[in-house]
Amino acid sequence: MWLFRRIMAEKPQLVNNSPEDTETDECMSTYTHIYSPDLLIDQVAFITGGGSGIGFRIAEVLMRHGCDTVIASRNLEKLTEAAKKLSSTTGRRCLPIAVDVRQPETISAAMDETLKTFGRVDILINNAAGNFLCPATSLSFNAFKTVMEIDTMGTFNTSKVVYDKWFKDHGGSIVNISATLGYRGQALQVHAGSAKAANDAMTRHLAVEWGPSGVRVNTVAPGPISGTEGYRRLGGSHAESAGVFRSIPLQRAGNKTEIAHAVLFLASRAASYVTGAILVADGGAWLTSANDVERLKDK
Ligand code: NAP
Repeated sequence: MWLFRRIMAEKPQLVNNSPEDTETDECMSTYTHIYSPDLLIDQVAFITGGGSGIGFRIAEVLMRHGCDTVIASRNLEKLTEAAKKLSSTTGRRCLPIAVDVRQPETISAAMDETLKTFGRVDILINNAAGNFLCPATSLSFNAFKTVMEIDTMGTFNTSKVVYDKWFKDHGGSIVNISATLGYRGQALQVHAGSAKAANDAMTRHLAVEWGPSGVRVNTVAPGPISGTEGYRRLGGSHAESAGVFRSIPLQRAGNKTEIAHAVLFLASRAASYVTGAILVADGGAWLTSANDVERLKDK
């Protein structure tokens, strides 16, 4: 601790390398490409939960690299609005489709519509999830089950449908969006931590089983990401004003574009020999952040 304080006191002024972002579910007014703008030219990505938060920014960044997208979640009105913004900003096509990842038949119908519209799918992003803070003692059996069904079953259901209908014969790239909650048993997060831990195992299992079909399966595990529902629900703004993020090695929350860039790397040919990997994009947060059992007292 003494050494950490000393390092902090002596630290030089750092260059802020974080990319553009907006706090809301709007497209960025400016964007600086890091990779070639045609990295994903004429590919198609199917993104669950692509109408908001991190999923929306992933859609935007992939589209800014030449990709068409399908954004799929439960609320078609929200998706339609998002698709309009994404297409008008990037000039690429974006198809909104209503899907509940807990119901394989809805995913199956969405894949049929995707193939009818675009004729191919190259990338699957499993981003849909639900989360809230709750201690295990207050968590209902149904609440635990629901999070497992959306996060874990939803990821399996979508992966299997996309594999059966396209990837099995054409190859492809899957990127799952996980979390670091289970690494240290984060308080108030047994449901999401357990679900994401199962997904991390699923990443490795499917990487092994589907590798021979030319399918790469990887994961990005974000830390606290500003401008998201997750950040609001899990108390990100409060943590920021209380100075909690000073304990993160990179001294700040991440932004949505930073997660989209990690996804872009894994989804694209830049990661052609990477499969079964879990890429933690959290500024080093899980290594040093508090896992405070005191918080259980407030619940
Ligand atoms: P978000 O905007 O609430 O994204 C979740 C998305 O999932 C929504 O678009 C929602 O859309 C969709 N969804 C929920 N249930 C669904 C269902 N049954 N079927 C289909 N879609 C469903 O939250 P976010 O914070 O950006 O989170 C995105 C991902 O990042 C999640 O996997 C989350 O666990 C992960 N993550 C976030 C943070 C963070 O700081 N924000 C940190 C670590 C990990 P509908 O309501 O339209 O269905």
